[in-house]
Amino acid sequence: MSAHFVIIGNGAAGYRAAKAIRRADSDAQVTLITEESYPFYLRRQLGEFLAGGLTLPELIFQSRNAYRRERIDLLLGTRVDRVDLGAHEVILASPTGPYGPIRVRSQQGSGLNKDRMAGQSVRYDRLLLATGTRAVPFYIPGTDLRGVAALDTLEEAQAVKPSLGEARQAAILGEGVIGLALAESLLGRGLRVTQLLRGERFWPEMLDEHTGAMVERVLENAGVVLRRHAAPRAIIGAGGRAIGVETTAGETVPAELVAVGCRRRPAIAVIQGSGIAVRRGIQVDVALRTSQADIFAAGDVAEPAGYDEFGEEGAAFCWQRAWAQGGLAAATMLDRKAEPAMEAVRVRTAIFGRDLAVIGRGHLAAQGGVTAEEHHDEPSVFRRLVFDEDLLVGAVVFGTGESVHELSRLVAAHAPRHLVQSTLGLAAPGPAPELLPETFARHCPICAAELVVRGGTAAGAVIRCQVCSTDLVVRWDGRRGWLDFRRL
Ligand SMILES: Cc1cc2nc3c(=O)[nH]c(=O)nc-3n(C[C@H](O)[C@H](O)[C@H](O)COP(=O)(O)OP(=O)(O)OC[C@H]3O[C@@H](n4cnc5c(N)ncnc54)[C@H](O)[C@@H]3O)c2cc1C
Repeated sequence: MSAHFVIIGNGAAGYRAAKAIRRADSDAQVTLITEESYPFYLRRQLGEFLAGGLTLPELIFQSRNAYRRERIDLLLGTRVDRVDLGAHEVILASPTGPYGPIRVRSQQGSGLNKDRMAGQSVRYDRLLLATGTRAVPFYIPGTDLRGVAALDTLEEAQAVKPSLGEARQAAILGEGVIGLALAESLLGRGLRVTQLLRGERFWPEMLDEHTGAMVERVLENAGVVLRRHAAPRAIIGAGGRAIGVETTAGETVPAELVAVGCRRRPAIAVIQGSGIAVRRGIQVDVALRTSQADIFAAGDVAEPAGYDEFGEEGAAFCWQRAWAQGGLAAATMLDRKAEPAMEAVRVRTAIFGRDLAVIGRGHLAAQGGVTAEEHHDEPSVFRRLVFDEDLLVGAVVFGTGESVHELSRLVAAHAPRHLVQSTLGLAAPGPAPELLPETFARHCPICAAELVVRGGTAAGAVIRCQVCSTDLVVRWDGRRGWLDFRRL
């Protein structure tokens, strides 16, 4: 009889693994379980969906029929309560979704009775845990008001979408990738957006001071209002809906939409107390095997053991990494050889057209045996490389992301400095260029077209005139900016 592969989680890792197992083994029985009510969708694009840049069919990548065609048995709106290691069973909790349990059955079927889901179990031969992360709850008054959204799931985005029409102002609580995605989408929709920062600078746990300052400048130039030293104290409302956020600085930020993008933890509840090795996430080896022979983990919930690129914080929050690990987990579950997904990328996102990637321990400050090199070799790319003694343990890339994959590989391999520099073609780091504090406009010295140079651009960067295609160097003397010919 063919093996039964059960996957908990229908995000990037779980969905990719299910498809890869099916493609590699047409006889396998594949069951995918998710507490959400929708088939696979582009979670990282939820902000764009909320702001109207993507329609529901564009966001939902895969129809239910596609699962049927692929003979993947899909249990929607079904929460797993726990895993019984001895019986090799996944124990289901009560249905969770607003529509109750929805079963998209393949011909093989999982043999479950739809009406008696709670307490039922699904037997597995091999189990993949791809449960992602959970937001750490935000305990302030007012989070139950209309217009307050966590935005982790499509259900949450759908629930808040109607209140968006009336909103003129939005406040984003919590710094990080979700806040960045939302700020851009909401500004694009014409809302005034205020981002509350707990401290002096943006996302200090993930971004070093210099990168943080560059990100802040991009946000402010785009129109996001940053409120420093302003943690939220309460969300205030009128008539059951949010109207503002009271901060610890004693200010009230008006907002009819309050986006709560807070800290996250790997979602390990289903195996808590089972004996499977856990640190912050579920510990796995390079092939994504857990400490239990027939159980595997992939995506944001997995924490590769002996692989210290993530430092004390352990977890990653990265679509690209989850997707890659889904493919690797499928190969391991099928006993096939696969190249380990040497992905050390913790965060990768785009902010107003610029790529931002934090790889391994790229955020570490230079101290002890750790040194940091800052490179502005290309005008539009900033790279920060962190070495422990002489070995690469982290990197940050801001600008264009072409070197991210290569850097991720080098960080995962703890490559020595000389190899990093020759692979990336880096010159020895020079002093960091000054970033323009303001936007200025000048005429092209060749064709007289008006060119706008945005604040945050590095002095010395090369820009191209859109009219006559002349390359011009941005100059800044501390008070004013101008454009110079490029001398070769
Ligand atoms: C608004 C937003 C913006 C983002 N932007 C970016 C970005 O720019 N770049 C980037 O790299 N990443 C971004 N991310 C993060 C990215 O989406 C995640 O890193 C990625 O989805 C992780 O995939 P995963 O498969 O590990 O887990 P998830 O996609 O989180 O999927 C977890 C799955 O497990 C299921 N599940 C969990 N527990 C149970 C249970 N007990 N029973 C049944 N089912 C369960 C859930 O229903 C879900 O289907 C963003 C996320 C959000 C929400």
